[in-house]
Amino acid sequence: MRNPRQIFLDHLAQTSDYPLMLEIEKAEGLFLYTRSGKRYWDLISGIAVSNLGHRHPRVMQAIHEQLDAYTHVMVYGELIQGPQNALAQTLCKHLPPPLDNVYFVNSGTEATEGAIKLAKRYTGRYEIISARQAYHGSTQGALSLGEDSFSRAYRPLIPGIDKIWYGSYRDLDKITENTAAVILETIQGESGVISACAPYFQALREKCTQKGTLLILDEIQCGMGRTGSLWAFEQFGIVPDILLLAKSLGGGMPLGAFISSRELMQVFKNKPVLGHITTFGGHPVSCAAGKAAFDVLLEEKLSEKVEAKARLFREKLQHPKVIRLRQKGLLMALEVGSFDKVQKLIRKLEELGVLSDWFLYCDVAIRLAPPLIIEEEQIEEICALIQEALAYI
Ligand code: PMP
Repeated sequence: MRNPRQIFLDHLAQTSDYPLMLEIEKAEGLFLYTRSGKRYWDLISGIAVSNLGHRHPRVMQAIHEQLDAYTHVMVYGELIQGPQNALAQTLCKHLPPPLDNVYFVNSGTEATEGAIKLAKRYTGRYEIISARQAYHGSTQGALSLGEDSFSRAYRPLIPGIDKIWYGSYRDLDKITENTAAVILETIQGESGVISACAPYFQALREKCTQKGTLLILDEIQCGMGRTGSLWAFEQFGIVPDILLLAKSLGGGMPLGAFISSRELMQVFKNKPVLGHITTFGGHPVSCAAGKAAFDVLLEEKLSEKVEAKARLFREKLQHPKVIRLRQKGLLMALEVGSFDKVQKLIRKLEELGVLSDWFLYCDVAIRLAPPLIIEEEQIEEICALIQEALAYI
């Protein structure tokens, strides 16, 4: 029989020359287990997906129950499906007006694509402003909004995109009557956990409203409680016109959404009819899992507990090799100064049974984004392991 590593290298399209290549046998709670029997702490949550850890019993039960009822029955938007209804209703109940209308898709990048189309249709404009060092997804449209160094090789990109610096007041002058939308990550994830301040967001909101420009906030990575509030934008006293969610939205199943108002969304109904279509978007199994996960997030008040956990990380991660810990709740970038050190640290942590990762556009820090269910004693245990690895780099 051929070696699984070789099959992986031969038959699965590769995205880098240095994949982690752990052979996963099982995942449970905070841990991943490999075929060789090694246990790894999951400190990245499959990149901000497993907020409840792996295989949360409530999510598993919801998936099983839905599997016993039906899986795919019809393309999005035609049939009334209980899991879609239940999740959309709960999401809207916990969102401020005017965010009361959900379009379910399969992934983050699709949420971005849908939102751009919505903004173009609703405003009748085509110019979009996004931020430098942003990441909104890898499909052609979303890629066009992201960091230049990442998209350059795929030119020509979609036209009409202008870039601003996230957090720059001066750049807000680029927003004009021609701007359909400004899209920002509320907290920039892939550039290494960068957060602007509330007055900036308020100035941005005001400028968008003044110019008739829609404000799209991407909370695909920073939403769903990770930063200490259900939605990161709550911390800045503003509400977007369109909100993007994915990653942990599906409780471990593929699911994304762009959420806006009924007034905006109705543009997809006419000229042309079916203005945005997806076959699998809002898959019933994903929505059932997402509803169960969201219920647990709320019932266990996980987002309210984030701040204390984040504080403990901050306290326990002090070390001479740590330049700084950039942190917004449990979305953290541990800065160690060079890519060489980042690589060494990730490798050493792996040896010690801890899975961490790097960022797309920040090569001097490692990514720490543990499941929100992590307990204080576990944080202490993890930080001791990180301290041990830091001593080594
Ligand atoms: N936006 C942000 C902020 C993200 O972090 C990501 C994924 N890293 C995406 C969009 C794209 O999501 P997906 O990979 O599901 O397409």
